[in-house]
Amino acid sequence: MPLLVQKYGGSSVADVDAVRRVAQRVVQTHREGNQVAVVVSAMGDTTDELLDLASQVSPHDPPERELDMLLTAGERISMALLAMAIEELGVPARSYTGQQAGLLTDASHGSARLLDVTPDRVKETLDSGAVAIVAGFQGVSQDEDITTLGRGGSDTTAVALAAALAADVCEIYTDVDGLFSADPRIVPSASRVTRISIEETLEMAAHGAKILHLRAVEYARRFAVPLHVRSSFSDKEGTWILVDRPLTPLSSDGTGEHATGASPVTASTTTGNEEPMEDPIISGIAHDRHLGKITCVGVPDKPGSAATVLGAITRAGVGIDMIVQNVSHEDTGVTDISFTIPEADGTRTVTALRELQREMGFEDVLYTSHTGKLSLVGAGLRSNPHVAHRLFSALSDAGINIEMISTSEIRISILVDQANLEDAVRAVHTAFEMDAEDQAVVYAGTGR
Ligand code: ASP
Ligand code: MG
Repeated sequence: MPLLVQKYGGSSVADVDAVRRVAQRVVQTHREGNQVAVVVSAMGDTTDELLDLASQVSPHDPPERELDMLLTAGERISMALLAMAIEELGVPARSYTGQQAGLLTDASHGSARLLDVTPDRVKETLDSGAVAIVAGFQGVSQDEDITTLGRGGSDTTAVALAAALAADVCEIYTDVDGLFSADPRIVPSASRVTRISIEETLEMAAHGAKILHLRAVEYARRFAVPLHVRSSFSDKEGTWILVDRPLTPLSSDGTGEHATGASPVTASTTTGNEEPMEDPIISGIAHDRHLGKITCVGVPDKPGSAATVLGAITRAGVGIDMIVQNVSHEDTGVTDISFTIPEADGTRTVTALRELQREMGFEDVLYTSHTGKLSLVGAGLRSNPHVAHRLFSALSDAGINIEMISTSEIRISILVDQANLEDAVRAVHTAFEMDAEDQAVVYAGTGR
């Protein structure tokens, strides 16, 4: 029997009617002859509301253990309500916390990493013919403290569960019909991507596309979990995210059924009748609104300088994205190093660099907040130089200045003023002829 993991995000279970609608879908999937394990997020904005409560009683530094205890309550509410709603429709359902579902993590509260996933009780529940519901975004540490996986972590729960259960597919239900060629909230004519490689999805997620948690995509790649991102508000086919290898045999009863071809669901994840050669090279545009740009001016141009500068930032716990070192002026023996950081880490980074400035004696630290990044993602970008030319021409036609550029095998990213970011996304989208005739539907949510 095919085994599906379905994950429903906060906007899909925002209120009682939404919970009932999800219950209907789960029951239908179950009645069609599938085993269904469901992962839920907290209802609507519950997590934000809980965070707000915490900041009222503990404005500065709430104890992280307690914060995790508090936040995991959100998913407990939605999982229990969903189980009840499913029972109401005549199908047995059991809900489980992350701990009960066997999600063991390290002890880093607020951003715990998974150490082991042993969903024995989930498996037993499925084998008994019931639906299993698992609270997303949470686990338990080796010391038996409750942990969370970081904001948006329910995707990771779902993928990890799918891998551990050797599910045929992990369906990620959200409030748009899949992955789009750009955020439909900015580009209404964005077109749905029918199929995309896991590598491209990784680049999209890493560079600001909000639709999937980055760690979930990394996990899916590592364990070859096929993903289907789709809307819980419609019955439309969503986006299939292709992994290289089929899953290992999935049945625990020794029949040795393979995921590929065993189920009607995964059959369409593979090539089917469509010809992958006809896929456009460009898959889509991701954008990130909240970046800051730092330039260290007049850094001594000698071995070790860049390492010292970047080391200081890494020690401050700040993640660096694009890095550019300018060609040094021969006569002065100094150079400028620029890089981007999350806007929220601006003050921390500047403080760390001011300290370093005194030690190393470079000229200045410049900081520009309100910077945005546009990333064009697609297979074979590097081997098609005309893509970069077209991208830069589109921006120049729109009168938008490029502040930094970085590339990978399958991505070109450019930095622009935050105020120009949305225009830039629309201009590039049109230049690459990605506009669809129909408007993309945004069913709910904020696209956070
Ligand atoms: N409820 C958590 C959050 O809002 C986890 C999730 O939705 O994936 O971040
Ligand atoms: Mg949420």
